[in-house]
Amino acid sequence: MEQQKTDILSLLPAQLEAEIRAMGAPAFRAKQIFRQLHVKRVFDFAKMTELSKQFQAQLNERFYINLPKIRQKLDSCVDDTVKYLYRLSDGNCVETVRMVYHHGVTACISTQVGCKMGCQFCASAPLGFIRNLTPSEMLMQIYGADAGRPEPEQISGIVLMGIGEPLDNYDNVMQFLRLISCKEGRNLSLRHVTLSTCGLVPRIRQLAQEQLPLTLSVSLHAAQDSVRSALMPVNRIYPLDELLDACSYYFKQTGRRVTFEYAVIAGENDSAEAAKILAKRLRPVFPGLRPHVNLIPVNPVAGTGFQAGHAAKFQQYLIKEGVNATVRRTLGDDIKAACGQLRRDQIEQDTALGETPDTEN
Ligand code: SAH
Repeated sequence: MEQQKTDILSLLPAQLEAEIRAMGAPAFRAKQIFRQLHVKRVFDFAKMTELSKQFQAQLNERFYINLPKIRQKLDSCVDDTVKYLYRLSDGNCVETVRMVYHHGVTACISTQVGCKMGCQFCASAPLGFIRNLTPSEMLMQIYGADAGRPEPEQISGIVLMGIGEPLDNYDNVMQFLRLISCKEGRNLSLRHVTLSTCGLVPRIRQLAQEQLPLTLSVSLHAAQDSVRSALMPVNRIYPLDELLDACSYYFKQTGRRVTFEYAVIAGENDSAEAAKILAKRLRPVFPGLRPHVNLIPVNPVAGTGFQAGHAAKFQQYLIKEGVNATVRRTLGDDIKAACGQLRRDQIEQDTALGETPDTEN
């Protein structure tokens, strides 16, 4: 039944206004409701006391408030990282990680239930793709992680690096970005947002046209087509030449350098020779600017057989070749904060118990 109603948390102010006007109510009501939802975080029409009981009932008829529930919350003992496993309204689960850095609090959010991209080292790949997340389901990952926290502890940055490929859910991700940054609502600057992609070339070019101030990050992981295609099937469709061309195009259009992610995998992509090839390919991508590579020792995922390579050594190789390289600090190691691991465990447990999504709804 909910499906016939409109998902109110996915609507921008102007869209909500059009809906409210269509109900015969004045536009200022839409502003009140938007503020209640996105600023006051009141997720129950009956608690919006400035509205009449009759209007509250009409709202209930027309809209639903899509509230994922927190199914599990894990607090790290080694740092302030918190991991949330959200249960969506259809019973599926996604993960969100809240990370505390000296410059603020960043949330790593999921954009899809599962993923189609099939990267060999990734915990989500073997589970396949289930569906796209709605804008409200992305938004609520942030609101849920902010709940009950005072202003200084609220999320100030977002990385779209959780489960899913954000550019494979393009329209909903764009709507989410408009919602989270709109001044009537959460008003989070897109300068503090990083969107990570495995390299969907046409979508990178489309994103360049949007002229958003976010940081685009490309998961590269190898600089030779043979190696990258073996690790990341997407490379067979969009090989490195096309991908790096799209990165140059993005830079030309937006003036913003694309950053690169590189999971260092022992014996696969971590040799001095691999670093040399990587540097050679990246140097011409952003004329006049040094390329930047974030290195992360691969997180060994059960069943993949990959082991972490020596990130600090690979960093030295790259620096010698004129590439900026940083080794990403890993947070929340004790709570499976790496993407996809908690959901995978949960699905394995549920399967053992004979539970499937949708059984409780
Ligand atoms: N689909 C997007 C975003 C989600 S994955 C993308 O591919 O960029 C977020 C990042 O985690 C990507 O850089 C991805 O390649 C990386 N990643 C996935 N599994 C990993 C693992 N086991 N160890 C290290 N990084 C991993």
